[in-house]
Amino acid sequence: MNGVSRQEGADYFDDLVEDQGGILDSKGLRDYEGVSTSIKKEGMEVRMNCRHCNRTRNVVLEWPELIQIASNSQGRAPILPQGWRFSKNNNSAYISLPCAGCGNVEGFSLHTTPEEAGKDVQKGLTAGFVNPQQVQQIQQQVAAAQRGGR
Ligand SMILES: [Zn+2]
Repeated sequence: MNGVSRQEGADYFDDLVEDQGGILDSKGLRDYEGVSTSIKKEGMEVRMNCRHCNRTRNVVLEWPELIQIASNSQGRAPILPQGWRFSKNNNSAYISLPCAGCGNVEGFSLHTTPEEAGKDVQKGLTAGFVNPQQVQQIQQQVAAAQRGGR
């Protein structure tokens, strides 16, 4: 996903708004809250609209992805699933997805913090869709990788 055109979506990205983290914070949160989510066996389904053409798309964040994001400790380089990046400014992981409707490569941008991902994982555990042993295993892997990452 490197080298893609950013243009109108640029307000999301920390490298372009380095000195206004507070604004980015509230915007990221508002966008996250504006989407509807539902808990599924395979993960958390997020229904969102393309920022450019408003087409709706359902994205499933799979449980292992959410567990991995939730397992990161602050103050160390984050260990994220494939395709995810991390914004230091709002302490949030994000992934950009292309829109089939208008062709914009970052039509959909989804943010979640480790804390939010942890709450989602908790819901998955409560619903019986997440195996506690899997959570523990991924937590250990991320902790080990973060220790080795510095
Ligand atoms: Zn679109």
